[in-house]
Amino acid sequence: MSHLDYPDSFRELVRQFRRLPGIGPRSAERIALWLLRSPDAKPEQLLSAISTSRENLQTCRLCGFFAEEEECVLCGDEARAGRELCIVETATDILPLERTGVFRGRYHALGGKLSPLDGIGPEQLRIAELLERIGTERPSEVILALGADVEGEATSHYLAEMIAPTGVHVTRIAQGLPAGGGVEQADQITLHRALANRGTYGQR
Ligand SMILES: [Zn+2]
Repeated sequence: MSHLDYPDSFRELVRQFRRLPGIGPRSAERIALWLLRSPDAKPEQLLSAISTSRENLQTCRLCGFFAEEEECVLCGDEARAGRELCIVETATDILPLERTGVFRGRYHALGGKLSPLDGIGPEQLRIAELLERIGTERPSEVILALGADVEGEATSHYLAEMIAPTGVHVTRIAQGLPAGGGVEQADQITLHRALANRGTYGQR
């Protein structure tokens, strides 16, 4: 077996790509080769995009979404003021919800969910900030859009109790069968919720 390998500097580049999530050894090698050899590759632009976004990217002080100012474009949008406030676990949950086009209010990312076993209690999440926002922004409704797992359920329950004294109406997103999935493929919990949250045919 030959010990021949790429030169050190190139191996270091491959090693750096291997550190990226979801990139295996073959992909890392392919990306590194492409970057160095392909006329389409623009390594300088890649470098500058990385450093520019690292410098500019902030967390919105209100909702936790990605921003280039203290506040994100959603929180800066006055048309969204006083409308629904949708609570999500993480900032990356916001875009998929926003892209449905259904919702025109603001969001609040908690930064996780209650998980006592992992040492995550209410103080570790952005719950105090949430209650403060509800007090100052007076949303028309608070929508809980947390996961349907045990921690998500516990977090929803906790939040509903904390928000109740403010008098703001609290709802949660419906849970049921995924689009393109039939009853046969659904797990028990999903089916149970789909049945429990059934609605009159023709409405929604
Ligand atoms: Zn924001």
